[in-house]
Amino acid sequence: MSDYNRCKKCGNYGWMSTHTCPPAWECEYEDCGSQIVYAHDPESAAEKYAECYLDEDYDMSLGEDYRVRVQELMNPDNVSFWLVTCELERSYYTSMDDDHDPLRRAE
Ligand SMILES: [Zn+2]
Repeated sequence: MSDYNRCKKCGNYGWMSTHTCPPAWECEYEDCGSQIVYAHDPESAAEKYAECYLDEDYDMSLGEDYRVRVQELMNPDNVSFWLVTCELERSYYTSMDDDHDPLRRAE
């Protein structure tokens, strides 16, 4: 039986028999509660935190900086601050304009 699965602790996918979680970081924005995020570096932790927690609670507005405090759990002296911004991806959709459909015109 395959042991490829989603880790219940860090949320990453991998072979559970050999999986090790990335370091844990405590992230916090202003006075909203802090959250533990697993990431390979503090920058990725700030990004993951904003994506998973801030966007839900604050509907992150475009161009605004969110200053996130990141502290490594196993090394509490490792504290850094990151400015996180987000951008939305533009999507395009098309549909036939029935008034100018050449097949219909020929009828
Ligand atoms: Zn893990």
